[in-house]
Amino acid sequence: MKNNIWDLSKPRRLANQDTAILQIQIYAKSLNDGAFVTKDGYNNWKHRIKYYSSCSIERIFDGSFSKACIAAGVNIKKKHIYSFDELFEHIENVAKWRNQIPSIGDLKKYNKKHNTSLTYDAYARRWGSWKNFLKVFVQFKNNQISKHELIDASKKSLRRKAISKRSRAEVLARDNYKCSDCGRTVDDGCKLHVHHKIPASHGGQNNLENLITNCADCNMGKSNVILN
Ligand SMILES: [Zn+2]
Repeated sequence: MKNNIWDLSKPRRLANQDTAILQIQIYAKSLNDGAFVTKDGYNNWKHRIKYYSSCSIERIFDGSFSKACIAAGVNIKKKHIYSFDELFEHIENVAKWRNQIPSIGDLKKYNKKHNTSLTYDAYARRWGSWKNFLKVFVQFKNNQISKHELIDASKKSLRRKAISKRSRAEVLARDNYKCSDCGRTVDDGCKLHVHHKIPASHGGQNNLENLITNCADCNMGKSNVILN
């Protein structure tokens, strides 16, 4: 029988792991010594085989680009997601050190002096703003609310967010109505979604820099994303 491309029983051709690993390794070699492999850097690499976007690779490595990088044995920078306890401990330390309710400036000074890197962003991302965080943390320290309520306040601030129609339209226009990973458009028969790069559950906000256009296929390979 002749090779029939319309044969539904034929398995779909997927990116394969060996080629993905090789791609990442060649890309890593093109970087300066000591540089980290990042998703964005890899996707923008001009010698990348078109089909092997970070998104396709995630699909064959359990949804994780880092896993593929580990398999390739290349340098990756791990993004540390601070636990609530780490956040509380840090602010307590800064407060003790400054002997006052810390300001954003105090945090910066503390980080510089102690070689730590936990900035106000980590708080603002979860509680909406540094000011919001301080408000509830002060209540907590004065025994007006429980630790549970303090944590819950962050979740409430995350739940409130839905991507506005306007932001969505702006992001679609900025991304030229194309999937940022595979470049397909509605004309190619796919549906485009605007979603968060850093998921809301990890403190990602609705600012335009954190929003990106993806087709349903590329979006599916990503875990913990907010569909809109
Ligand atoms: Zn896509």
